[in-house]
Amino acid sequence: MIELKNVIKKYPNGIVALKGIDLKIEQGEFAYIVGPSGSGKSTLIKTLYREERVTSGIIKVNEYDLMRMTHKQVPYLRRELGIVFQDFRLLPRLTAYENVAYAMEVIEKRPEEIKSRVMEVLEMVGLKDKIRRYPNELSGGEQQRVAIARAITNKPSILIADEPTGNLDPDTSNEIMDIIERINQQNTTVIMATHNQSIVNQYVHRVLTIQQGRLVSDQEEGGYRYED
Ligand code: ADP
Ligand code: ADP
Repeated sequence: MIELKNVIKKYPNGIVALKGIDLKIEQGEFAYIVGPSGSGKSTLIKTLYREERVTSGIIKVNEYDLMRMTHKQVPYLRRELGIVFQDFRLLPRLTAYENVAYAMEVIEKRPEEIKSRVMEVLEMVGLKDKIRRYPNELSGGEQQRVAIARAITNKPSILIADEPTGNLDPDTSNEIMDIIERINQQNTTVIMATHNQSIVNQYVHRVLTIQQGRLVSDQEEGGYRYED
């Protein structure tokens, strides 16, 4: 579960990106974060995986109290999260297979387990026949599939996605959404910041709208309402 109470984030330059966010997301939910550019979506997402510390308030992710958490605990928090970005962020010198395997190697999983799990997740995202390709030999949609496979390989309870379809055409975006939907159906919480109006309207889920650092609407089965 994710819980925020009166979360305020002020950057060192004085910009207050989050102005008192109250929010609860239960295990297994799917929540979009929408809102105009600069409204605080990325900041909110970054606070969840402790890329940014909040200035005040309460922020809890699963069993972790992020306000009280020490630096040493951050990797353990991140093991419970899968994170996907707009620009994929694959390691360019590693193949698709190696990119996914690396996420398991760093937490010292056994080699046999790595082998079978990597093949399992690459098959799940439909890339079994391209495991030896390097990122620059894959299309944008294929790179995002690898990134998703990497994000879920350690079975996170929460998948965090910041504009995952931002660099993809509409058909490819739908294919990526179908994969994210399947992950959500396995009881993984999904939190997805997006500008993609047609996706929000087509794959209907909870919609959290942020404007100027404030949560201005929270709809259980929302559509895309704000004007950009
Ligand atoms: P969004 O993701 O909705 O586009 P952001 O969370 O990126 O919004 O930004 C919210 C506000 O915080 C903007 O005014 C942005 O310029 C500012 N901001 C974002 N990141 C930083 C940072 N690292 N340092 C200072 N200001 C930042
Ligand atoms: P996104 O495409 O996810 O909205 P942004 O363009 O908001 O990302 O931010 C890109 C990077 O620049 C982030 O690391 C963010 O923290 C940083 N950033 C954004 N706005 C500012 C700002 N006003 N001052 C300093 N850094 C910023």
